Amino acid sequence: MKKLSVVIPAYNEEKMVPKTAKTVSGLLKAHQIPYELIFVNDGSKDGTWQEIEKAVSTYPGITGVQFSRNFGKESAILAGLATATGDCCAVMDCDLQHPPETLLEMYRLWSEEGYEIVEGVKHSRGKESALHKASAGMFYKIMTKAVGIDMSRASDFKLMDKKAVEALLVMPERNTFFRALSSWIGYRTTSVEFDVQERVE
Ligand code: UDP
Ligand code: MG
Repeated sequence: MKKLSVVIPAYNEEKMVPKTAKTVSGLLKAHQIPYELIFVNDGSKDGTWQEIEKAVSTYPGITGVQFSRNFGKESAILAGLATATGDCCAVMDCDLQHPPETLLEMYRLWSEEGYEIVEGVKHSRGKESALHKASAGMFYKIMTKAVGIDMSRASDFKLMDKKAVEALLVMPERNTFFRALSSWIGYRTTSVEFDVQERVE
């Protein structure tokens, strides 16, 4: 069985780190998937780092990366990918808005069907205001045109083969938009739909 790394960017997530560490490691263990979880503390102002340290000593296979200040989610994702040692690598939010069970289907599509990138595509945009939906719609219309790939339901929730991760990491761009760049680099790609969950606190 090949190892799955899960990169989890975390900014002010002290309440969610223990829940996410428990839920995701429990799920992967139950399905006998070898894993590591990499929590990247993106300069949080709360006790996120202390919670990551606790998770590291509570569960096997957890690593923490510590930023000196808040650099933003894109940088946190890239630092996590650079630290990952798995044969494939997933990226997911720390607030469980990306349903962890979807990781199982992503892993299956990679390990059994040979896809090199599995994109998480939003089935619905969850509970967002009409204004937010409209402005996000406009933003993705422009992005779709720029990238040449439909970005309207794209997300940062995805799984990539180690090869694709390496290709992404050698790109000179440092100020990136991960969800678009990971589509742009090519590779054998498929997608799975997921419903954006409500943020639980
Ligand atoms: N995040 C981060 N750095 C930031 C802002 C957010 O690492 O500067 C993380 C956050 O902890 C979460 C993910 O990025 O794991 C998505 O953030 P959020 O839930 O705020 O965004 P949304 O759900 O609105 O996309
Ligand atoms: Mg969120």
